[in-house]
Amino acid sequence: MTTTQIQNLPTEMKAWQVTTPGPIDGAESPLAFVTKPVPTPERGEVLVKVLACGVCHTDLHVTEGDLPVHHEHVTPGHEIVGEVVATGPETSRFQLGDRIGIPWLRWTCGVCEFCRSGRENLCPNSLYTGWDHDGGYAEYVTAPEGFSYRIPDQFDNITAAPLLCAGIIGYRAYHRANLPAGGRLGLYGFGGSAHITAQIALDQAWKSTC
Ligand SMILES: [Zn+2]
Ligand SMILES: [Zn+2]
Repeated sequence: MTTTQIQNLPTEMKAWQVTTPGPIDGAESPLAFVTKPVPTPERGEVLVKVLACGVCHTDLHVTEGDLPVHHEHVTPGHEIVGEVVATGPETSRFQLGDRIGIPWLRWTCGVCEFCRSGRENLCPNSLYTGWDHDGGYAEYVTAPEGFSYRIPDQFDNITAAPLLCAGIIGYRAYHRANLPAGGRLGLYGFGGSAHITAQIALDQAWKSTC
């Protein structure tokens, strides 16, 4: 199978990129608003037109240089909701027009001990959206279909976007806490993840009493 795409797909797009990592409030902004080519989906990837992209503190770490540069002039952003506008070779999961989410974890090797035991977030070969590869502060972005999520209709774009990093992290922590029915849950710090986890926990508590 080869690439399938919508008609009239542009060849260029607007995007933010990290020109030189540094303080976001410094004399020179580390970010630049540029025109660059619309990326082409590679084997197993889809091309998405970005509809919404959340802001995570890790985007600030990438932009300010707290994290080492993995991809020069990278476009940050890894809480992405968008519409599939092209499917690359050897893809089958999504159709043109599908609304999907692209998370922080972009790819893992699939064969290491962590990947094979459901702990792929610990994979030593993992790649990340908006750090190793261009992210969602752009009009278009590519992602492996196997690491993307179908977005249920009941979520609008802006509501769904933070679930792609803050939500996933919080849900995993909540799951690992293995909270017994009627148990107490402590949330330490109250950032993007905890405010979502609190809602999930309350929802689960409500369901367990019905
Ligand atoms: Zn994040
Ligand atoms: Zn692995």
